[in-house]
Amino acid sequence: MAETIFSKIVDKSIPANIVFEDEYLLAFTDVNPQAPVHILIIPKKPIESLNLIEEDDSTLIGKMVLAAKRLACDFGISESGYRLVFNCNRDGGQTVFHLHCHLLGGRNFSWPPG
Ligand code: AMP
Repeated sequence: MAETIFSKIVDKSIPANIVFEDEYLLAFTDVNPQAPVHILIIPKKPIESLNLIEEDDSTLIGKMVLAAKRLACDFGISESGYRLVFNCNRDGGQTVFHLHCHLLGGRNFSWPPG
């Protein structure tokens, strides 16, 4: 997979405001936040998009969602609510081709999304 801005954050060659890290995942604040809380949760393993996840990745995807739940609690938005978003490819609005989950909260989101 080609190097991306997120793979550079994983190997620490560019800085990020990291809020969680373990063996499998990294989470950092979005540089262009769309809500008072806007955190990106990414696997350290490079996967381009949701289209390329496989059965073997199910534990990893579960870890991403569990990390999002914990971060929502840490950032005080569990009770008010939050949104998890995986953008995929052009129509999904994906701009960085390293799988990531947006954790957004701290304001009300409309539905359907724009
Ligand atoms: P997406 O459009 O779903 O691919 O989301 C990519 C997100 O990455 C956008 O919300 C960007 O603001 C964010 N982003 C891009 N570069 C950085 C960076 N260096 N540090 C933190 N977030 C970034």
